[in-house]
Amino acid sequence: MIRRAFLVWLMVATCIGTTTQARTVAKTLDIYVIDVEGGQATLIVTPSGESLLIDAGFPSDGTFASKPGLAARARDAQRIVAAAKDAGVTEIDYLMLTHYHADHAGGVPELAQLLRIKTFIDHAAPTAEAEKGVAGTQGVYDAYSAVRANGKHIQPKAGDRLPLNMLGGGVEVVVVASEDKVMSRPIPGDTPMPGVSRSPSICEGTGIAAQEKTENPRSTAVRLRYGRFSFLDVGDLSGPSLFALTCPTNLIGDTDVYLVSHHGADDAADPSLYRTIKPLVAITNNAEKKGAQKETMALLKQMQSSIDTWQLHRTLAEGSADVAPSDRIANLDNITSAWIKISANADGTFSVMNGRTGFTKSYAR
Ligand SMILES: [Zn+2]
Repeated sequence: MIRRAFLVWLMVATCIGTTTQARTVAKTLDIYVIDVEGGQATLIVTPSGESLLIDAGFPSDGTFASKPGLAARARDAQRIVAAAKDAGVTEIDYLMLTHYHADHAGGVPELAQLLRIKTFIDHAAPTAEAEKGVAGTQGVYDAYSAVRANGKHIQPKAGDRLPLNMLGGGVEVVVVASEDKVMSRPIPGDTPMPGVSRSPSICEGTGIAAQEKTENPRSTAVRLRYGRFSFLDVGDLSGPSLFALTCPTNLIGDTDVYLVSHHGADDAADPSLYRTIKPLVAITNNAEKKGAQKETMALLKQMQSSIDTWQLHRTLAEGSADVAPSDRIANLDNITSAWIKISANADGTFSVMNGRTGFTKSYAR
């Protein structure tokens, strides 16, 4: 009897041991930069399986004038569902909207019909100036807030941590800016590695004016850390608040992957942030003719010995040129809609994969 009990205990112990080992070896933090043709939809899946979607692309057929329609025909919501399926995600634990423009928030009503969204994270309603600047912003917000009423709602301020992975999987998401305010002091205790101090700011000038001065500068921006790996997604943050993330003080710390602000438009061309946070990889979530503008691309070209640029699309923006070779460009035309997928380990090593070709490159600091 004792012997049988011991055997059962041994079998259970072995099973637990195997499971734990498989998890530590196989589980990564995965980030899908989904092609929504010049908007944003970035799906983050933690090693414990929690999902955080940052923005949901355009509504319907994908223009600023489009209105949400049939979920079955919603271009961007369907692309998000495809990425979720690839990641084994069946519901969105957290949806964070960076701001209320149609290319970021427009796809929510359709997505919510396809995947349950449990918690909504955002900032205050758009101002009257936002509607004047980009017509339709208020309508996007109204359609979104009707959906939001069905879930939990969090409105964090700059400096707050998102309640992601409360089970302690080692993932930390800090809101570094929101509503045109940046966090008041650097992320506490955050250095690239134990014993290594935060890099000093390397600032030039006073920043670049925002192309759109109302809702973009109010973008809710986050810095994610998983062990030693870090990722910065600032939405379309631009103008003084973008500059203030790293100048005069480095509030962010070294960052492995930077999703270039505002799809790589020219108001993301200030070298200060790139020189201060020193990304190994910069990704432009551009469309063929949106974002990836000439000054930002020229800067990324200039920095190519230290920063590997990946592009969601090749660029046909006026006067601009691709920085990435074609194996680091997810889509060479408008026929494919491939994502860029990052898989990160807690030790800081990570890989980036081109969803169109499967080409993968590994990185380590
Ligand atoms: Zn945008």
